[in-house]
Amino acid sequence: MRGNLHIAVVGYGVAGQASCLLLGAAGHRLTVFEQAASPGPVGAGFLLQPTGLSVLTRLGLLEQALASGQRIERLYGCNLAGRAVMDMRYAEHAAGCFGLGMTRGALFSLLDGAWAGRSAIRSGTRIDRLSDDGRYLIDGEGQRYGPFDLIVAADGAHSALRRQPGVVRREGLYPWGAMWCLLPATQWPHNDVLHQRYAGTREMIGLLPVGRRDDTDARWLTFFYSLPGAQVDAFDDEALQRMRHRLGELWPEALPLLEGIQSSTQLHRARYRDVVLHQTTWNNVVFIGDAAHAMSPQLGQGVNMALLDAQALADALAEHDDLAPGLDAYRRQRRTHVGIYQRLSRFLTPLFQSDRDMLAGIRDRVFGPLGRMPIARGEMLRILTGTKRTWW
Ligand SMILES: Cc1cc2nc3c(=O)[nH]c(=O)nc-3n(C[C@H](O)[C@H](O)[C@H](O)COP(=O)(O)OP(=O)(O)OC[C@H]3O[C@@H](n4cnc5c(N)ncnc54)[C@H](O)[C@@H]3O)c2cc1C
Repeated sequence: MRGNLHIAVVGYGVAGQASCLLLGAAGHRLTVFEQAASPGPVGAGFLLQPTGLSVLTRLGLLEQALASGQRIERLYGCNLAGRAVMDMRYAEHAAGCFGLGMTRGALFSLLDGAWAGRSAIRSGTRIDRLSDDGRYLIDGEGQRYGPFDLIVAADGAHSALRRQPGVVRREGLYPWGAMWCLLPATQWPHNDVLHQRYAGTREMIGLLPVGRRDDTDARWLTFFYSLPGAQVDAFDDEALQRMRHRLGELWPEALPLLEGIQSSTQLHRARYRDVVLHQTTWNNVVFIGDAAHAMSPQLGQGVNMALLDAQALADALAEHDDLAPGLDAYRRQRRTHVGIYQRLSRFLTPLFQSDRDMLAGIRDRVFGPLGRMPIARGEMLRILTGTKRTWW
């Protein structure tokens, strides 16, 4: 199917943006529905893995991404005793391999600037549900849009569209979340390392260099501070002072970075979901990105998965003459890879964010030695780089 479908894309996040670029390039007619009145990035920054970078290469955007992002060569996480729990270098996975820290704004602008069809975005339109045959979209006021040959549901972790009977197999809110924001990187010496510090399983702090925002030449870090969900929801100026105090105790070197943060409103709240669908397609609808497989950000794969989904969908449609076999091929292509990371993040997240203190002791004793055994180390590197596509 080249260029003969009228496709609705719901959500103009990474998954929606990449779909617009790839499906638009194949000549399909697109209409995009985005709830935000002015579409833009939400949150601080993230780590692109070699998998996500391969999609940017395919889109011809790698050079620009490298120019605004920050190459990450190593992930280093230690506990309060200074014991390394995670210490992995991308180059040990494959020569020349690296991750790329990017601000959300930089990736948003990069994808947005590359798409010539932006006039097809109906911003400020929140889609509430699908019609029973999956051909129409319906907004909060009951207005119907369509019919469409295909609807790409890319409406993120809290997707309204997947609330069709028989679509969701599992959906849960993680008991823990995080506060996060961008901080100036001027005084930070570890430019190519994602640093994490763990105090048991109850406290975790992360600092990821993410390069430039699209409005300034300065370089930035994404700061991540883990908290129980209720404390994320209630985070206020007093909680900010407590966080600052704990940072001074747990990681004094990082404390000066918070100088410019005076109010709790300067941080974003993050709660995350664990979502598994029975099938990522339903009638003429395909779910991609977090709408299909929201997971905890512990393994840093969500943006990468969203890019891979969009690419696999465009390829599957291009390779088949009809929609149904195209969607079947899409499902087959993504099922195992997504399933592996869903299970891994469900299993690994409590080791870093939970109130199960015993797990911290096991983690701190086991991960270091495991990481020095060649086979286990290879597996850990595959998981980190997003390239683990089969269990064995
Ligand atoms: C703290 C944190 C750190 C993370 N770090 C990383 C990382 O390092 N690496 C990584 O790969 N991933 C990371 N992730 C995960 C990543 O952010 C997500 O997986 C990714 O953003 C998913 O993209 P998406 O396009 O599917 O959804 P989103 O980016 O959420 O986009 C959804 C879009 O749909 C719109 N929308 C929602 N509902 C509707 C509706 N009903 N009608 C119309 N529009 C709608 C929204 O406004 C939004 O624009 C992190 C997440 C968090 C919370």
